Amino acid sequence: MIFQGIAAAPGLAIAKCLRIQPPQQFAADQSITREQTEAEMARFTQAVQQAAAELAAIADNARARGQIDQSEIIEAQSLIATDPTLGEGVQQKITLQLISAVQAVRLTIDEQAAIFAGLEDAYLRERAADVQDVGQRLTDILLGRPRVDLSGLSEAVALVAQDISPSQLVTADAGHVRAIVAETGGQTSHTAILAKNMGIPAVLGCRGILAAVADGELLLVNGDTGTVETGLPEERQAAASRELERRAEVQVSLRELIGQPTRTRDGVAIELSANIMNPAGAEQAVQIGADGIGLYRTEFLFMDRLSAPSEEEQLAAYRQVLEAMQGKPVIIRTLDIGGDKDIHYMHNPVESNPFLGYRAIRICLRQPELFMTQLRAILRASAYGQARIMYPMIASLEEIRAANQILQQAKDSLLADGLAFDANLPVGIMIEVPSAAVMADVLIDAVDFFSIGSNDLTQYTLAVDRLNENVSELYNPFQPGVLRLIRMVAEAADRAGGGKFAGICGELAADPRATLLLLGLGLTEFSVNPAALLKIKKIITSVEKSYAQDVAAKAMRLSTTNEIMNHLEASMPAELRHFLV
Ligand code: PEP
Ligand code: MG
Repeated sequence: MIFQGIAAAPGLAIAKCLRIQPPQQFAADQSITREQTEAEMARFTQAVQQAAAELAAIADNARARGQIDQSEIIEAQSLIATDPTLGEGVQQKITLQLISAVQAVRLTIDEQAAIFAGLEDAYLRERAADVQDVGQRLTDILLGRPRVDLSGLSEAVALVAQDISPSQLVTADAGHVRAIVAETGGQTSHTAILAKNMGIPAVLGCRGILAAVADGELLLVNGDTGTVETGLPEERQAAASRELERRAEVQVSLRELIGQPTRTRDGVAIELSANIMNPAGAEQAVQIGADGIGLYRTEFLFMDRLSAPSEEEQLAAYRQVLEAMQGKPVIIRTLDIGGDKDIHYMHNPVESNPFLGYRAIRICLRQPELFMTQLRAILRASAYGQARIMYPMIASLEEIRAANQILQQAKDSLLADGLAFDANLPVGIMIEVPSAAVMADVLIDAVDFFSIGSNDLTQYTLAVDRLNENVSELYNPFQPGVLRLIRMVAEAADRAGGGKFAGICGELAADPRATLLLLGLGLTEFSVNPAALLKIKKIITSVEKSYAQDVAAKAMRLSTTNEIMNHLEASMPAELRHFLV
């Protein structure tokens, strides 16, 4: 049987199912006498202390492993546990309604979670899960019930749950968790973000799976397609095992490329960098020999916390990345929030078209203090390596000028404070709005580089929401209209000369079907998720640029997406075809 869920973190895994059952209900009658209220309050206070201590230990361990964003999620949970409004709600229920601490916790947590769950914003709605997670921890402590411990698994498993909470996932023994499947959750849930970070394939929103599987049953989880297969016949198991072996062999053989220059066979150098979301990503990039960081999504540093990080905290994170990269270029993208990435403490308005709304550079230009703090932190970090700065979602020259004006103020303030920075820090923009692509020949004069954000450029060019499953078959970056814009951008940078360049950091850069085309169109910098880096390197280093140019030229003469994709697949040299699947 095949279950379809949301492809939340990529990869393929075949492993025995381990179900995490939803918590059992406790006895219905939880009434107490007036004499018992004091003892119940004391039990609650003690449970909060224990929960906070447990959460602090989990956060410390995550931090020690370099999982900074994981530790921040857990720290935020600790704040939920110790929040006075929770304590007040529980106290009122114990003393006025005369119910046990455990029931008072349940009711109060449900009330608080319902407030989050009722919010329009998808990101905030997901926070209801954090509140419930804290409630479950407190309930378990009050009932003396052991929590499902995923930290010491003895064999490889595919976890299947109603909901896998961030704190459970953080404590999981990553070496044994081969896949994650949950009935709830979406692509913006913390579980998805963490699974990707940990390199574990995940299928979320997979309804009905928990009741349909048994512990120990073999599951084939495909995080690329969002499917979970059960009741696997032997030949299917064998085929999946062969596919896994093939993927593993390919990965091993690709490792010989680590340390080799990224150059086409006719000697054209390409900068092949990694996309990261935190300093731990930089360590991974170093291990696979990335030529740099082509997209550091700094907004993740601003998520899962109660207020924005200070200049010092931002400096520490950016500096860590620059130092890890040891002089290789690091493109730090300024805050790209809004759209599907909301940050609750910023209280941005709820909008009916968030991708067309108050987003990214628009927020930074409207809130110069926020922008200034980040720019000062990036500039200060630039003293520790080769930093480049990049503004997201630029739609016009005026926006570049306005952003640069604040950048200049940040530089002036650092000079006044006597703080060091790289005075020649290159400044670039993301090309993800069609107007910027069309104006590339003008915009290039105002910047040092372009990086094409094909994820957004595709949705804006085709008027197809990148998150909307109803129109997902219309979302295709190989559409000729999108490719013409990419060509304009590459040509504008090429014509400008003077060391200016055009790169790409959207998911298209990591798609092997696009490599010859993008190379042939003249892009000289590719930034991809670390898992895809070596396979893209293999393609780039196996072909001649002149061949890629011929392939691209022919692709640009074709008029439909299908013709283009067929041509690109057919143009892939036979020995590289296996990368296309
Ligand atoms: C893009 O839009 O292609 C991009 C890289 O930015 P993000 O995916 O963070 O919006
Ligand atoms: Mg984008």
